[in-house]
Amino acid sequence: MDAKITLLPGDGIGPEVVDEARKVLTAVANQHNHTLHFTEKLMGGIAIDQTGNPLPEETLGACLENDAVLLGAVGGPKWSDPTAKVRPEQGLLKLRKSLGVFANIRPVKLFPALADASPLRPERVQDVDIVFVRELTGGIYFGQPQGRELVGGLRSGHDTMRYNEMEIKRVLRIAFELAQNRRGKVTSVDKANVLTSSRVWREVAHEVAAQYPDIAFEDVLVDAMAMYLVNRPGDFDVVVTGNMFGDILSDEASMISGSLGMLPSAALGDGGPGLYEPIHGSAPDIAGQGIANPLATILSAAMLLRSSLGLEDEAAQVETAVAQVLAAGHRTADLARPGEKAIGTTEMGDLVVAALG
Ligand code: NAD
Repeated sequence: MDAKITLLPGDGIGPEVVDEARKVLTAVANQHNHTLHFTEKLMGGIAIDQTGNPLPEETLGACLENDAVLLGAVGGPKWSDPTAKVRPEQGLLKLRKSLGVFANIRPVKLFPALADASPLRPERVQDVDIVFVRELTGGIYFGQPQGRELVGGLRSGHDTMRYNEMEIKRVLRIAFELAQNRRGKVTSVDKANVLTSSRVWREVAHEVAAQYPDIAFEDVLVDAMAMYLVNRPGDFDVVVTGNMFGDILSDEASMISGSLGMLPSAALGDGGPGLYEPIHGSAPDIAGQGIANPLATILSAAMLLRSSLGLEDEAAQVETAVAQVLAAGHRTADLARPGEKAIGTTEMGDLVVAALG
């Protein structure tokens, strides 16, 4: 196979973790005689510094014409002035919208070797295997009107939470289709007791559920879901929800796996290039120190191999290599227990490459 991948290292630890994922992708491709062509482009704060635009046209063009995009992370204190006109996150939202990637798939699974890295008790997390499907291109992060103004002399801000039935249906369908190849259960999360947009979500969710009679379906309110993820996370299979609820709940669920540094994600649409990224941010507190955990990005690269390139065996090979490295006791600083030796970002990447065999 000949495939073209756009790399967007971004800011903070982004370049450090993307380097390791590239190394792993190259190694697994070489083993199977595939050729991967990488194009590296500017995105985020670094792109603002160099071009004034968080998503330069050249970057967007490369993303649209290649087979898949692997992103590190964007943002950091240098660009987070709330009154700034241009912010790194605007580039990310525009990229998702331009690629039409409306469903963010976030698996939350505990590697057995990390059971004691989770802040939850091992018996509570050992069976956790959840896939979050977060709607990614609608809801309150995109709804208009949006803005700030003086109201009665007081600084005020407003956002709009809006979903239409097409947006709800297509993301629900992805959830049901995933559940058909898993344990056959979908949980839809909303706030239908308060929000009108959630009542539309719930109504449409039930209509879609009726088309999948073989799948067990339930609605859960977002506040209750925040609690259930802590006290009975093993009960969930596929969890589907809107943009903001999914953003918050999937970060909460990430703690089950021990560290934000472990969780990959894929953003998929109707057949165009997929966008793959770790769920963590640019971690400015540890950037440049060579201690970031690259596994979330390496596991995102595995999702890229599977979902954009159709290379299931190669994807599974990467995931198995990660599991082996962890089972052998290797830990980056975010995973190491007090007194346990921590290895660096590059060393972890090298160990995964070596474990590919
Ligand atoms: P963060 O995810 O960057 O960091 C939260 C904590 O987790 C930090 O202590 C960090 O050191 C740690 N951490 C994160 N990833 C890690 C890794 N791979 N290895 C080891 N430790 C890791 O979240 P934040 O601090 O709230 O945000 C920092 C910046 O990142 C902000 O500018 C934010 O806007 C941005 N951000 C970007 C994205 C994205 O690019 N998709 C997502 C979230 C946040």
